[in-house]
Amino acid sequence: MAHSPLSDVISCLSDYDPNALPVAQAQAIIRDFITPVGAIEKVALRSALDRVLADDIVSAIDVPAHDNSAMDGYAVRGGDLAAGTATLKIVGTAYAGSGCDAVVLAGECVRIMTGAPMPAGCDTVVPQEFVQGATEASVTMPAGVVKTGDNRRLKGEDLGAGKPALAKGRILRPADLGLLASLGIAEVPVRRRLRVAFFSTGDELRSIGEPLDAGCVYDSNRYTLYGMLTRLGCDIIDMGVVKDDPAQLEAAFRSACENADAVITSGGVSVGEADYTKQIMAHLGDVTFWKIGMRPGRPMAFGRIASNGKGAYLFGLPGNPVAVMVTFYFFARDALLRMMGADSAPLPLLQAVSEGAIRKKPGRTEYQRGIVSIDASGRRQVRITGSQGSGILRSMSEANCMVVLGHEQDSVKAGDLVDVLLFEGLV
Ligand code: AMP
Ligand code: MG
Repeated sequence: MAHSPLSDVISCLSDYDPNALPVAQAQAIIRDFITPVGAIEKVALRSALDRVLADDIVSAIDVPAHDNSAMDGYAVRGGDLAAGTATLKIVGTAYAGSGCDAVVLAGECVRIMTGAPMPAGCDTVVPQEFVQGATEASVTMPAGVVKTGDNRRLKGEDLGAGKPALAKGRILRPADLGLLASLGIAEVPVRRRLRVAFFSTGDELRSIGEPLDAGCVYDSNRYTLYGMLTRLGCDIIDMGVVKDDPAQLEAAFRSACENADAVITSGGVSVGEADYTKQIMAHLGDVTFWKIGMRPGRPMAFGRIASNGKGAYLFGLPGNPVAVMVTFYFFARDALLRMMGADSAPLPLLQAVSEGAIRKKPGRTEYQRGIVSIDASGRRQVRITGSQGSGILRSMSEANCMVVLGHEQDSVKAGDLVDVLLFEGLV
């Protein structure tokens, strides 16, 4: 697919400054530049969990297929209860799955179980806990316990035949699998999984299992990336640590973009970084280097690289471990969702009362790691997790949220409301 150059996307912005780029502008450029990967496959319903629906699903049937009872009790003609307490003759029993063939006449009723089809003539169910003097033959209904139509589920009330059930682009969650099953759908069209290659750059990095030489650190970024990409439903290609050597870096970038839809690297994109990463990224494609108005995560490379006719989007994330996670969540995540053809809504921010003061300068977005809790009066409150250095991954691990302090925002006073992004939702 032909791609318009990044410069076309960027030229639409009147006040573009790659050395002081607001978060929102970087997000907008990325969003405009990304196009979805097209391919579709059909998978069995269970395998569709967390995948992106590739087609609109329209119901072929009414769900439920017939009017049925919402309670265990007695199916009656509502009109029979209008005149006050009524004793009705029981003319049959309706079970879920089999129903009852009786046609119910005035003064009659049918014993009915939850989910059983409403017998002909009945429009109302009296729950069994409301009746009196039930025998095999008859039952007494007190006045005023139900209105006509109560406790009856209508045919098609969940979903009518021909009605849209799910729209393409949706990431299928447990409720959606259940909904598809309720329509009798066994196979689901989904987008193919995105392939994402990633590697870490830096001579100081050692992989776990290797001895930690003097001056070195263990590579943690590949593990946070593994976790975040797996949660996003990507197929991953972990390419390890690549030394700061031009031939090795070029080979890694080429192999990554030949085999993946997107390439994510960490490290080597800082200002004044004395390595080859940036040169090789630029040499292999249409890549721009930004200093983003944010903390942590200022330097980032973004674009598209190609080798032997195969291309991939590139996210050159900073090296610092917290910066990697923040730039992944706030830039790469949305881009990867777009590539997958998924609906990508902005991350849901909640508000919480800040327990303490937070120092902040306007002109950049800050992502502080925080712990949300509920105070004695039931209000959501948040406190910052100790030291906020961009290399301190413990701050991220201890946190259950990020406090997002917007571009224009000034310092926060204790008791002010702040935006937070919770890390965990329902599984
Ligand atoms: P850089 O962006 O390459 O200048 O790296 C910034 C900081 O992050 C340096 O202290 C690096 O040692 C550290 N760093 C870079 N990559 C990793 C990694 N994969 N795992 C842990 N720390 C890293
Ligand atoms: Mg480095």
